[in-house]
Amino acid sequence: MELKVFKFGGASVRDADNIKNVGAIVNSFKEDKILIVVSAMGKTTNALEKIAQSYFDQTKGLRELVDKVKSDHHEVIDELFDDTAAIKSELNDLFVEIDWLIEDEVKDSYDYIYDQIVSVGELLSSRVLNAFFNSIGLNSSWLDVRDIIKTDESYRGAKVDWDSTLSFAKSGISNAFKSADVIVTQGFIGSTNDNQTTTLGREGSDFTASILSYCIDAKEMCIWKDVPGVLTADPRLFKNPIKLDKLTYKEAIEMTYYGAKVIHPKTIKPLENKGIKLYVKPFNNPSADGTLISAEGSNHYPPVIVIEKNQVLISISSNDFSFIAEDHLAMIFSLLDKYRLKVNLMRNTAISFIVCISSEVDRIAGFTEELEKQFTVTQEKDLELITVRHYNDETVQSLIKSKMVLLEERHMSTIQMVIRQVPLQQRIE
Ligand code: ASP
Repeated sequence: MELKVFKFGGASVRDADNIKNVGAIVNSFKEDKILIVVSAMGKTTNALEKIAQSYFDQTKGLRELVDKVKSDHHEVIDELFDDTAAIKSELNDLFVEIDWLIEDEVKDSYDYIYDQIVSVGELLSSRVLNAFFNSIGLNSSWLDVRDIIKTDESYRGAKVDWDSTLSFAKSGISNAFKSADVIVTQGFIGSTNDNQTTTLGREGSDFTASILSYCIDAKEMCIWKDVPGVLTADPRLFKNPIKLDKLTYKEAIEMTYYGAKVIHPKTIKPLENKGIKLYVKPFNNPSADGTLISAEGSNHYPPVIVIEKNQVLISISSNDFSFIAEDHLAMIFSLLDKYRLKVNLMRNTAISFIVCISSEVDRIAGFTEELEKQFTVTQEKDLELITVRHYNDETVQSLIKSKMVLLEERHMSTIQMVIRQVPLQQRIE
């Protein structure tokens, strides 16, 4: 018997057929104890984000948005269960929380409201999955991850309090496994010391699974995805990307840091610290090998391409032609931190500092507003950041064809380029 942690993302539980498929996968691991971390079903998180925004802005159509999330869940339940009364009442208790919140006038910050509403997606999906497991004879029990993962109060991007989380996980999860073979819990969410719900940032469920794997010394963790494993490029953007059979933790950290969407960037470190193997496998072909991420990987990789769209290049220069010196940089970085903006690429010249950031309209507006008191700030929007690990000239040339490279950085085995599409130039004959 081994202790394994499985993470199932939104696509793997998006409808009744997919939930049945998850049931079949878990059923095939009868010998093991499985802790399941699940995301919200399908596009529920996006729908709940709209609800949070609509409530905060007090716009029309709020009720309809909530009703749609409800009816989507009921539709899945109707297909999964003969007797739906118990599970519907469990879900209704969760919807009541949203109903109460949105009846009140807006008192709290957007980030706080967001976490209270958006967290419901994972509470719903985990309830449905656990009820379904029990209905097919699995000895499964539901666990509220907010009793385990403790965080600070940075709503929408809460930081984990590792000490409390470790001690709650050790007691809470081992207790639950005394009477269950499968535990179903939520990804993405946690709670503060005074039990206010928080979220860990979009796509954070992978990170949840990794935190829990670390805390309970899991034998291995598996992320079940709608792709065959970790690929050399996003299959929605490139033809025929290659699946990587093995990756080192280091390579996986690098790839995800640069924006490879297949795994959340924070996932690898806790696993690496304890040498826990991570598999990325396709949920529609569970016996396939997928990708294994561990201490031993290959030293030779083909070019791996990561494309980040919606980038903004912000150029900050002094008004009086003076140098952008260390004191200025310290101030710019503290503002980046204040507005929670992640630097994807940067360049310092004599009188300007150029930084490439993913487009976060509100936060960038606050950041540039403060900077404009002291500097000249210009922005170039709608750019792409292309990163190629293990690049060769051929790959780079093919990627920048008919594009304008605005900023380029080469370091060891990585090249990064901020590019703009240029309209095709046609010569007049
Ligand atoms: N449901 C959350 C999201 O869509 C977290 C996750 O799926 O990882 O971002």
